Amino acid sequence: MSQKNNEHLNPLDSMKERFSHAASILGLDQTAYDMLINPQKVVVVSLPVTLDNGKLQVFEGIRVVHSASMGPSKGGIRYSLNVTLDEVKALAAWMTWKCAIVGIPYGGAKGGIKCDPRNMSAGELERLTRAYTVAMQDVFGPDRDIPAPDMGTNANTMAWIMDEYSKIKGVVSPAVVTGKPLVLGGSLGRVEATGRGVMVSARSALAKLKMDPVKSTCAVQGFGNVGSISAKLLSMLGLKIVAISDITGGYYNKNGINIEEALNYVRKNNGTLEGFNADRITNDELLTLEVDLLVPAAMEDQITENNAHDIRTKLIVEGANGPIASNADDILFKKQINIVPDILANAGGVTVSYFEWVQNRLGYYWTEERVNRRADRVMKQAFENVFQTSAKYNVSMRTAAYILAIDKVASTQKLRGVF
Ligand code: NAD
Repeated sequence: MSQKNNEHLNPLDSMKERFSHAASILGLDQTAYDMLINPQKVVVVSLPVTLDNGKLQVFEGIRVVHSASMGPSKGGIRYSLNVTLDEVKALAAWMTWKCAIVGIPYGGAKGGIKCDPRNMSAGELERLTRAYTVAMQDVFGPDRDIPAPDMGTNANTMAWIMDEYSKIKGVVSPAVVTGKPLVLGGSLGRVEATGRGVMVSARSALAKLKMDPVKSTCAVQGFGNVGSISAKLLSMLGLKIVAISDITGGYYNKNGINIEEALNYVRKNNGTLEGFNADRITNDELLTLEVDLLVPAAMEDQITENNAHDIRTKLIVEGANGPIASNADDILFKKQINIVPDILANAGGVTVSYFEWVQNRLGYYWTEERVNRRADRVMKQAFENVFQTSAKYNVSMRTAAYILAIDKVASTQKLRGVF
């Protein structure tokens, strides 16, 4: 699996390289550069938690606030054994750029706990999450820093954070997290929001490339929240999804995979595609299939200088954060592969998180139709803005997205001033 070859890769290097490239095109001054290349705040805590067997284990918890210039910082929390400080720093910076691109009044943050959520009981996860919330009580806050789910966390995790934070502060505080269960003030449409944004971005890109969705084939890597919903909505748009995958490997059917069937299968099969009825391929093979659209929606650094030469798609829409390492950028650019970058393509999630926060603060809840309509409008406009910027500077959509975001955040910082 490509992950193995990529152990030396660091998503923070990819972020910094792309940031520096865009900053030089933009002519960003040194002060703004220095303020934006590194995070504003890094908090690392030790979390002693009692396991079900009575033993105590100490976990490492991280929260990085990259920027709070545009508003309270916003970003998910990841539970994984692969969590590193640099990864969280990269993800936090990407949140800053993402929020700026879709024009929502947030800065960027990210959190992570080094743990293996699939081998922990619900009770252990709850204690760990509550311990993390206690440790981060002065970091989090509806006007300060607002977490959300990411890999390995979900609506239940958010419910525990909301509950623990509310108890500490003595007030019910639904707006301290987004991605909550509906009954606790979650938003309709939030679960599907990222995948929906991926679909809207893909639809916009296909239209620009004059590619007919109904005549297009697609492969999706990752079948979690983002991958499965993207696959479902893209198939509803008419694309033929010939391959899907998850941590257990890839599943291929040249006549198209029935995504509803795959979703039902995963629901009944402990959340994985293992044993799904299709030809088996590896995750690496999936990435190099000859398809019109490729959606990497699993994790970072899946396409690198090692396999970029073998990529045979016309269009990549990045559902995951950082699925393409920066060392593959030039290779893919020379191959004229069009890329809708992560900080644009998967921004539908944070957009609806913002809507959730707005609804919590208003105490007034919207219909799903209203959420989707507004989110689609935001995503379409953001795509158009990045597209225009790429034409203006004659750069890739990725560089254009960075230029747009950096310019916005740097101008805001300048107006606010420094002491
Ligand atoms: P998830 O945990 O729901 O799903 C991850 C999927 O990837 C699972 O199917 C898993 O089996 C698969 N996977 C894990 N390791 C893999 C590997 N080595 N090879 C192939 N597949 C592998 O997570 P998610 O929420 O869907 O997030 C996926 C990506 O999208 C992450 O990069 C995340 O940061 C990003 N993202 C998520 C959201 C959101 O709202 N959930 C928003 C923006 C970006």
